[in-house]
Parts: sequence; C-alpha cells; structure tokens
Amino acid sequence: MTHRVAIVGAGPSGFYTADGLLRGRPDLRIDLIDRLPTPFGLVRAGVSPDHQGTKAVVRQFERLLAQPDVRFAGNVEIGHDLSWDELQEGYDAVIVATGMVIDRKLGIPGEDLPHVWGSWKFVAWLNGHPDFRQGPDLSAVRRVAVIGNGNVALDVARLLAKGREEMAKTDIVPEAGEAIAVAPLAEIHVIGRRGPEHASFTNNELVEMGRVGRAVALTDAAALAVQAPASDPTPERLRKAKNLEILRGFAGNKAGSKPLAVHFRFNASPVAIRPGEIELSTGTLPADLVITCIGYRGEDFPEGEGVFAVGWARRGPTGTIPTNRADSHAVAREVLAWLSERDPKSGPDPMPLSIDVAGWHRIDKAEIAAGTPLGRPRVKLVDWKSLLDVAQND
Ligand code: NAP
Repeated sequence: MTHRVAIVGAGPSGFYTADGLLRGRPDLRIDLIDRLPTPFGLVRAGVSPDHQGTKAVVRQFERLLAQPDVRFAGNVEIGHDLSWDELQEGYDAVIVATGMVIDRKLGIPGEDLPHVWGSWKFVAWLNGHPDFRQGPDLSAVRRVAVIGNGNVALDVARLLAKGREEMAKTDIVPEAGEAIAVAPLAEIHVIGRRGPEHASFTNNELVEMGRVGRAVALTDAAALAVQAPASDPTPERLRKAKNLEILRGFAGNKAGSKPLAVHFRFNASPVAIRPGEIELSTGTLPADLVITCIGYRGEDFPEGEGVFAVGWARRGPTGTIPTNRADSHAVAREVLAWLSERDPKSGPDPMPLSIDVAGWHRIDKAEIAAGTPLGRPRVKLVDWKSLLDVAQND
C-alpha cells in the first residue's frame, strides 16, 4: 500500500509538484486531474502561441505522464464530477493547482461594454480553449487600448501587431489569426497607470515588441526622463534600467514607418470606457477595442487538513513558468512531510476516469497531424465535442 495524491489542475505548478513529490517518493501514486480533456493548463491556454519555445516545457511534463504511477484524469471537474469532500476522503493529500482563470476588473464605468475584453478571455480564445470560442469582432477595429504594463499586455499587443506571416508557424487558432490579419488595425496603445520605471515588462519581451514586422513601437521621450527606483533590489533595478533604455530606442523610432503603431503610454489611469473611446486621467483616447491585462483572480477552493495550494492558486498571479518549479518543489516537500506522518488510506479508487493519457495523446496526434501540412506545430481541436470524440475513440 502506498499513499495516493490528487493534484487538481494539470498546469505547470501541478506538474512541477508531481515532479517534486516523485523525487522524494518514487513509489507515490499521483493523479493529475483537469476539467479540460487536455493537460498543461496555462501552457496550452495562456502562453502566447508565438512563444513555442516556452510551450516546449510540456516535453518535461510528458515525461511525468509516462511514469507508471502517474495518471492524467482529464474531463473531471472537482465540485461537479467528484466533490472536494470525496477527493479529501479518497486521497492521502490533495494539491490545489488550479491557477487563476478570472480576469480582474478595473472597477470603472463602461467596463462591461461588449468591446471590453479581459486578457484571459482574449488569449484563451486565440489559444483554442473550448470554453472561449467567441472572440471580439475585429472587423472594424482600428484602435486598441491595452491596459497594463506587464508581460501579458506585451503578449496581447504583439499578437495583435503581428501579421499573417509572423503567425504562420504558430499554433494560434487559424480563424483567430485570420481575424487579426484582416482587421483594419492601425494603432495599439499600451497603457500604464504608473511611469515606465515601474513597468513589470521583462527585457526580452519588451525588445521583442520592437522587432515586430508590421508594427513600429513608439513612445514619448518626455516620459522617460526617470530612473529605476534606487530602493529596488539590484536585479529589479537593472531590469527596469534596461527597460528604460529599450523604451528610449522606441522613442527614436519614426511614426508611420510601418502600417501599424504600438504606442507605449505612461502615467495614464483608466477612468471610464465608452463606445469608441477610453477616458484616461491624461485625456480621452479613441479605442474600438479595450483589452485589460491587469492580473487575474482564482476560484475558491476548500482549505483544510491535507489540502495544499500551489502556484498561482497559492501566491497570486505573478511569476513565470520556471518560477513555479522551485515553488512547487517547496510545496511538494511540505506534502511529503505530511504524508510521512500518516498511514496510507485504504479504499477503492476514487477517480472516475474519463480521459486518460492515451485519450490526450489521441488529441495530441490529431492536432499535430492537422498542423503538419500547414507548417504549423499543431491545429488545435477547439470544441468540447471534437476533443471528447477524438479522445474517447480509440
Ligand atoms: P503583472 O506583471 O502583474 O502586470 C499587471 C499590470 O496591470 C501592472 O502594470 C499593473 O500596474 C496593472 N494594473 C493592475 N491594476 C490596474 C488598474 N486598476 N488600472 C490600471 N492598471 C492596472 O501581470 P501580468 O502581465 O498579468 O503577468 C502575470 C505574470 O505572468 C507575470 O509574472 C508575468 O511576468 C508572467 N508572464 C510572463 C510572460 C513571459 O515570460 N513571456 C508572458 C506573460 C506573463 P501596477 O504595476 O501599477 O500595479
């Protein structure tokens, strides 16, 4: 008899926790549970489709799924197909790795207008998440306001700015890519409520914005007469100083040199949104589409004995995928200490298996096969029915 551990959420923090657990206890039985028929959470639904290098982390996760005592339990929703109580009764420890999948709100008038989108919904749409099949109508969108100064804002601005050729080798949902390619986009404004010295962009991602083929990155030099805060720890100060240097390069770019412009605007807080415009603390800006990239919240989960949260569900929506590795390993050590003080529970297998790893691999194979003739890494199955049909038909 050995301990059984349930990990709810088969995203990066869930996989890194499984990895940490197996390093200490290779005999453990681990179920990685996800409400979607597909694993990898944010890597599949959130990481930008033009960042295939980042998505390559799934190779490590696949190696874990190949372990004999690790099961993928897809299409199982905890709280619906199996209650949290049943989970706690059936497993020796429960790990909550559900991430954060709800867009935070600005809390300003007009936020619920149909042309206002949260970044999670927007990125999930172009990444093929089956619950987000409706994207914004881009057919008459010339100007976009992207609210936020983090890497998600850069992802969103870049995905809108890139043309058909630059997205050709990605796994963006083809219809979404086409909608962006044919939209009459002319201006994208990336709007920070504070100065550039506070932006949380990372350097490589900001540099990337300056290399987009069909868009020129611009900013007003006047906002850049600042310095990275001296009180910041050195790595932060260096990152911010480098950001300022990159932005100074943008300030020297020539407006009109490319069909599309990405303007970085600072010290501008959103005040209200109206059809066709956004009011900022600095004035009003025309905007046919507003995308908020201001962070996420998570869904509630029960706390209690033997329940351990990890990743964004534990610490909030900050940090890159690699950040989760050390964090998840630390939680895995806590779980191992907890298990070491308890005998394994006996009882029947609590997991109602719907889509296992073989089902996921059928989806994977079908998607890769659909992508190959187009020179894409894959073309995703995007609706529940096709996902389930392919996964369940051997
Ligand atoms: P983030 O870096 O925390 O940025 C959120 C932004 O929203 C901040 O600029 C914040 O401004 C702004 N904001 C929050 N509330 C606002 C409000 N009411 N009005 C106006 N602005 C508001 O988070 P993120 O961009 O969502 O990214 C989440 C994490 O994922 C980050 O750690 C990020 O690095 C990571 N990520 C990494 C990559 C990559 O490595 N390529 C890609 C995507 C995401 P303040 O600073 O003033 O609060």
